[in-house]
Amino acid sequence: MPVLAQLLAAVAARSVEVVDLTAPLSERTPVLRLPEPFANTVPFSRREISRYDERGPAWYWNDLEMGEHVGTHFDAPVHWATGRDGEDVSQVAPQRLVAPAAVLDVSARAAADPDFLLEAEHVRDWEGEHGPLPEGGWLLLRTGWNARAGDQDAFLNADERGPHTPGVSAACARWLAEETPLIGLGVETVGTDAGAAHGFDPPFPCHSYFLGAGKYGLTQLRNLDRLPALGAVLIAGPLPIVAGSGGPARVLALVER
Ligand code: MN
Repeated sequence: MPVLAQLLAAVAARSVEVVDLTAPLSERTPVLRLPEPFANTVPFSRREISRYDERGPAWYWNDLEMGEHVGTHFDAPVHWATGRDGEDVSQVAPQRLVAPAAVLDVSARAAADPDFLLEAEHVRDWEGEHGPLPEGGWLLLRTGWNARAGDQDAFLNADERGPHTPGVSAACARWLAEETPLIGLGVETVGTDAGAAHGFDPPFPCHSYFLGAGKYGLTQLRNLDRLPALGAVLIAGPLPIVAGSGGPARVLALVER
């Protein structure tokens, strides 16, 4: 049987499950908050155009307003100064949007310490158990943080010193971006960097190193607990906004059962 026919048969038989890694998008979707003097994005909002009424008797539709980096979304290299000569989100080759996923579960550590940082040794331990990081694949950092996604304050987890959310150390981010065959980093939190990463050297190292290396980011993922450590295929579909720094994305995973 041709491979696509096999795939469709497996999806129909549920021996391949399609797992939705995308957070529902609404006015309640948590949004990044930068401190003064930086400019902030607008949250998701919509205005009704018509709803089976005199404005449009047989149809319902809305106009939307939202930032490129609201909800589950894709970071393109041009999002960061280090990647300014790289791809915008419309230029990412579609072949690169279908890729293997490695899932590294640090949810117990993140529950004990919201400022938990992934180090290279954690990735080496994972590789010792599961094998090398996949060529052209995503590293998905499972922190359990999505459990807080219904509450903006709990999700951002900020105090007077700033936000406290798990992420990746500067040294580990540099190593992952520059020395491994990954295509990008996916996280459950509001951005690919840890909450405290404004104070790292360099600041926001995941953005700086991954986007500077022409790689990508995916944020506000969910259902990572339904993926195997290795073997899932991730399909990321950001809107091809011309010259866009990123965009809202539907992110799916194919998982063999
Ligand atoms: Mn972003």
